[in-house]
Amino acid sequence: MKMHTITLGITNCYLVEAQDGYIMVDAGSQHRGKKFLRAIRQRGIRPEEIKLIVITHAHFDHVGSLAAIQGYCQCPIMMHPLEARLVEGAIVVIPPGANALGRVVSWMGEHNKILLGFPATKVEYLVEHEYDLRAFGVSGKVISTPGHTPGSLSVVLDDGRAMVGDLAMNQFFTQNYPVFAELPEKVYASWQLLIDHGVQQIYPAHGPAFSIERLTAVLASRK
Ligand SMILES: [Zn+2]
Ligand SMILES: [Zn+2]
Repeated sequence: MKMHTITLGITNCYLVEAQDGYIMVDAGSQHRGKKFLRAIRQRGIRPEEIKLIVITHAHFDHVGSLAAIQGYCQCPIMMHPLEARLVEGAIVVIPPGANALGRVVSWMGEHNKILLGFPATKVEYLVEHEYDLRAFGVSGKVISTPGHTPGSLSVVLDDGRAMVGDLAMNQFFTQNYPVFAELPEKVYASWQLLIDHGVQQIYPAHGPAFSIERLTAVLASRK
């Protein structure tokens, strides 16, 4: 399965080739609709070829351009019910920082919520535990991986690649731990879940892809 990375604002969004068209993972920061159109055209992809948008969680940098992109693609959106509630109500949540940088950014976010707003969008598919993506022609599934937020989802492909949203990062000096975490104790359990699902390569929303071995090593050092 071919995969494309499109960076919209500070966020990597992914397009995974399906049997017929593509599914998209995450929808980037605000005001990136036009950039999205340019990026897919450069890759020879038309908006109507995107059949589903999976949103890993409802932070502004993942749903900022969701309404615009959904408008171009006219496809359904899939989310965990806890996060769908935020997108349908256009509710901005600023998570607590997990390190010094995170705490500073979190404080700034709390005081600038108005700048982080996004339009409300209807969510068609709610995934609480697991969803088999074969229904959309993709060999893989969507699984619940709480930690960064309570309703975080990951897309796990059968070939060992996983798009994990902000469950693990490769940026912001965090050594792969998310810079923010609403349920910090669940982050490690969700990393273990990725390992149990046979994940080999992590595609984070922030920073380049990296090997699962980095997470395995962190978990081993905690035992
Ligand atoms: Zn996030
Ligand atoms: Zn993010």
